[in-house]
Amino acid sequence: MNKITIAIDGYSSTGKSTVAKQVAKTLGYIYVDSGAMYRVVTLYAIQKGLISTDDFNKEALIYQLGNIEISFQFNPVLGFAEAYLNGVNVEKRIRTLEVSGYVSKIAEVSEVRRKLVAIQQQMGEDKGVVMDGRDIGTVVFPNAALKLFMTATAEERAQRRYKELLERGDRVTYEAVLKNVTERDYIDTHREDSPLIKAKDAITIDNSNLTLEGQYEKILQLVRLTLEDEE
Ligand code: C5P
Repeated sequence: MNKITIAIDGYSSTGKSTVAKQVAKTLGYIYVDSGAMYRVVTLYAIQKGLISTDDFNKEALIYQLGNIEISFQFNPVLGFAEAYLNGVNVEKRIRTLEVSGYVSKIAEVSEVRRKLVAIQQQMGEDKGVVMDGRDIGTVVFPNAALKLFMTATAEERAQRRYKELLERGDRVTYEAVLKNVTERDYIDTHREDSPLIKAKDAITIDNSNLTLEGQYEKILQLVRLTLEDEE
């Protein structure tokens, strides 16, 4: 059977990665979390003191981009690939609200985007990939066979992310999470380079009132139809 590329874009915390992982597992495809790459670069910037609440040394980050090596290693216990920064497992550290607070600023930098898009395109070269992010169907894989655009109300998304962070042991408030989600949406949709927009040929999935299973079934049906079309 032909392998296809599946691009999943959408707002923050719409459950893109959950469904992308499920679909990839079912099809035996590679799952790539492009947001994790922007988070790794953000963690690097924080560690090097290049970004803080009132300062961002963009030029220094651009200068140091060559020092940032991003990789993924499949963890069979967790069932997904964990992110590494220069050989160090940073999977947990990139998911904190601190990193979420800076990541959209880092993702505005064209030089960062160019570096990460090149890696992403290479990872998807042989198709058989499910990738989620903000610009996958528009910039990274404009010819993807199936493009999904996921959305849900900001409150619903913040509630899900809040629960997730609490379960992980992070001490956060719902209000702080909601603020982060809406701020990231704003920056991601308004930036000059590769803003988050729905690709013309993307199918919108509003999962505000969908269960995880309902959403998975719906998407799997779309995948089956696309695969039939490709035959
Ligand atoms: O998907 P996730 O929420 O982890 O992404 C973190 C951030 O990385 C997004 O809010 C966005 O600013 C940036 N991003 C991006 N392009 C992508 C993936 C993520 O700009 N393809």
